[in-house]
Amino acid sequence: MFNWLKKKLIGFIKRVLPFLFDDESTRNVYYQTIKFVESTPQKSSVNTEEFIVVKYKDKLYWALFECPCGCHEVITLPLKKEQNPN
Ligand SMILES: [Zn+2]
Repeated sequence: MFNWLKKKLIGFIKRVLPFLFDDESTRNVYYQTIKFVESTPQKSSVNTEEFIVVKYKDKLYWALFECPCGCHEVITLPLKKEQNPN
């Protein structure tokens, strides 16, 4: 069940942010793990190899990850579908 959800979510993230996972052209995978948390972590706690997804009560809220260009900036991306509450 968890693996199924994770696969689905990875598929979603790959569609939204294909450049982060473009391992075919660059042979380089930026994020080793996708980590699910229930509350937004401190930016300073985001590790380079982790793609963090804030998920609470089956709803996705945020994705946090370190910028793949190497500047060590932590990017926070909203995953909420605000236009479609159902
Ligand atoms: Zn950068």
